[in-house]
Amino acid sequence: MKLAFDTVECAFQDEVRNFIALQFSPERPFRAGTVDEKRWARALLEQGWAAYQWPVQFGGTGWSVTQKYIWERETALAGLPARMGGLGMFMLAPVLYTYGSAEQCQRFLPGILDNSIGWCQGYSEPEAGSDLAALRTRAERVGDHYVINGIKTWTSYAHTADWMFCIARTEDCARRQDGITFLLIDMRSPGVRVQPIITLDGRHSTLNTVSFDNVRVPVDQRVGEEGQGWRYAKGLLTHERSGLAFVADSTRRLRRLRTTAAGTRSGAGWLIEDPLFAAKLAEVEIDLMALEITELRTLAETAAGHAPGAQSSILKLHGTLVLQRLTELFIECAGLHALPYSFDDTGLREEMSTYLIGRAASIAGGTNEVQRDIIAKHVLGLP
Ligand SMILES: Cc1cc2nc3c(=O)[nH]c(=O)nc-3n(C[C@H](O)[C@H](O)[C@H](O)COP(=O)(O)OP(=O)(O)OC[C@H]3O[C@@H](n4cnc5c(N)ncnc54)[C@H](O)[C@@H]3O)c2cc1C
Repeated sequence: MKLAFDTVECAFQDEVRNFIALQFSPERPFRAGTVDEKRWARALLEQGWAAYQWPVQFGGTGWSVTQKYIWERETALAGLPARMGGLGMFMLAPVLYTYGSAEQCQRFLPGILDNSIGWCQGYSEPEAGSDLAALRTRAERVGDHYVINGIKTWTSYAHTADWMFCIARTEDCARRQDGITFLLIDMRSPGVRVQPIITLDGRHSTLNTVSFDNVRVPVDQRVGEEGQGWRYAKGLLTHERSGLAFVADSTRRLRRLRTTAAGTRSGAGWLIEDPLFAAKLAEVEIDLMALEITELRTLAETAAGHAPGAQSSILKLHGTLVLQRLTELFIECAGLHALPYSFDDTGLREEMSTYLIGRAASIAGGTNEVQRDIIAKHVLGLP
């Protein structure tokens, strides 16, 4: 296991730090949901780093596994998104360049690369979440079109997306994973209806339900072979899980938590000196260190050419637990001030929002219970 970077990797780390410092700094931090997003997306595109995970021939960087890790860590520590371009960038694009036709790559990859076309993921249904193969949305072949009927739910960004990548049933087969087809649907097609889901923070931030009423999708918007969509979709879920350890993001939050606790009164002293709070802080820090070692071990194995496989479930499970624990400690730090959700000037609003939204992290991308099942079977070899 290699835990230190070599000289080339150190030089790359410097290059990344310099690039980030030119765009944003602690005095001028990146602010999500503002013009900063466009500025960052443009800077990434101009630098040729927008699609850092893609192969070079499609506009990617050709970076090694370690370089990608350095990039993700440095951006997270600086409070920046490692990539723009949403779900299309890291979830759909790998499916397109692996299983799609040359025409589909030419048609769809440029809009993902320059962030001009937004995508949403239509997998989950009201009775098909963890058990995704139970999906009931149907795609019936009629001439040179598929006709889609059904409902997708928990669809992030459906209300702003231009397109959806979706799985639908084209055939009933004895094995439920067969007969599922991967389709690309224009969200402006007649018969597509998007309805908001209000989340725990009281807002319509990202989630939606999408219904399809006789929606016509041209056959050339099917990716790969009919009935093989499960295979493509499963590959895609591994991409989804690989980014879910949040190690650098949690490291940044932990540093901020320390600073906040050091400036928060507790009795006659400061919260950071409170033995109970200090013990909680130490506990989460130890968990985070263990998570980081696991992530580095996975990185070393991936760099040696092994697929991450079931290990990504460990990262997802513990990554979300650490992240949620940190958001709880922030709320503890804020005390009574965390209660009124609507005031901005102290920065506490973000903490409460992150705390509430953070509850979803152990559900989205495969629930933690399901990750435990995977770990039991495929990592521990339990029956
Ligand atoms: C914030 C957020 C964003 C999302 N975005 C999208 C999106 O963009 N596109 C999309 O398609 N989906 C999205 N989802 C849906 C997500 O993938 C599902 O919520 C998830 O797969 C769980 O499915 P479910 O909600 O139907 O719960 P269920 O599968 O019904 O599970 C209910 C409970 O039963 C437990 N459970 C189920 N099966 C097992 C088992 N075998 N062993 C042990 N326990 C089990 C679960 O852990 C859970 O606690 C999103 C979800 C959230 C929360």
